[in-house]
Amino acid sequence: MESRRRTFLKNISLAALGVATPVHTVWPRSLKLNGKDGTGINPWLEISKRAYLRNASEISKMADGKPILAVLKNNAYGIGDVEVAKILDDSPHINGFALVKETRCLALRKVGVKKPILLMGDFSTDLGEELVNANITLSAFSEASMEKIMGLPPNPNKKAKVQLYFDTGLGRMGMPHDQPFDWVMKLSNNKHIEIVGLFSTLTSPIDFAKEQIERFSVLTKKLSQLGIPVENRHIAPSSSLLELEASHLDMVRPGILLHGSFPLLKMEHADHYSLQPTFRLRAKVIRVELLKKGDTIGFSRFYKVPENQWIATLPIGWADGYASSAENGAKVLINDKLFTVVNVNASHCNLVIGKEKQVDGGDVATLIGPDVPEITPSGFAQLIDGHTYLQINYKESLPKYVSDDFD
Ligand SMILES: *Cc1c(COP(=O)(O)O)cnc(C)c1O
Repeated sequence: MESRRRTFLKNISLAALGVATPVHTVWPRSLKLNGKDGTGINPWLEISKRAYLRNASEISKMADGKPILAVLKNNAYGIGDVEVAKILDDSPHINGFALVKETRCLALRKVGVKKPILLMGDFSTDLGEELVNANITLSAFSEASMEKIMGLPPNPNKKAKVQLYFDTGLGRMGMPHDQPFDWVMKLSNNKHIEIVGLFSTLTSPIDFAKEQIERFSVLTKKLSQLGIPVENRHIAPSSSLLELEASHLDMVRPGILLHGSFPLLKMEHADHYSLQPTFRLRAKVIRVELLKKGDTIGFSRFYKVPENQWIATLPIGWADGYASSAENGAKVLINDKLFTVVNVNASHCNLVIGKEKQVDGGDVATLIGPDVPEITPSGFAQLIDGHTYLQINYKESLPKYVSDDFD
């Protein structure tokens, strides 16, 4: 009787830990990473070329076929700006890339990225010439930035490409939309400068975004009357792209959608589109120990072992960019089963394996990935009551493996 009860309980807890229905993915479960299965002992990111190219095509459909200016700021939200740019350089739906640091724009060119690159931020003066030579488009976002661009040493063979950045209400970057256009005329009259686009950034509340679109439309008309070229207009980050068709203009400018996440956890239109996660965050189990009832884990002693339990340790923590709030109930996939995270420190995290030792040292754990809903970036965010931009923090130092696997 006792043993039947134990088997019954074990089955229940296995069902509770069991793998949920896999989400649809176009990439295989195990990527062939140029013959390698990740690194030796350090955590790593696996990046799917196929998933990025599919997402780009899907996003272009969302935007009525308009081209995409892919925002890869903050190291492509922690996933790898260089890696993602190299992949998307091959997509017919991608017009170019937008970043906020001049050194990262140059890094993209250094690995051979060919498409237009827009610097949406400032640049240090001593890199100005190099940026122009590398065909990086600069932004004029203030009087001072305009003066800086005009002060660059003139290059007889190459005009400096510039986009005009207007503030229509985000209040963060750009020339105020209702300012006189003398500064634009100065730029436009400079024979070493070519104005190649204009942009602004919409806020999320729809009513105000509509007002911003109106402001942008008014200023576009005025510029046009002054003989300024008004092509390559773009104002829509992911949320406006999804919610406001009038924001699509000549190009759309999403960031988070490229990686397969929606800007908010609950979005009305999300179900209509089949975006998918583009990466896996993985680490190998380095320790599995049976802890006793009453033992605790970690500095804060946040988790108290309620009964004798096998506890696994992964060599990844918040210093690698894995959210420390994961200890509030996130799951990790090992050997097709989900286990609960109960502790996150700087370089380690711990999982409850249970009464049975179901995992071994060296087993590969997937912390974030497309495999089951609980570990997708948004599934993870949902479990810990977070937001979908959490992956923004992955450290640049994580090794990255791009899969060319297209089967
Ligand atoms: C971050 C950013 C975007 C993209 O935002 P998502 O919400 O990730 O789509 C677009 N434009 C600007 C200026 C940004 O800073």
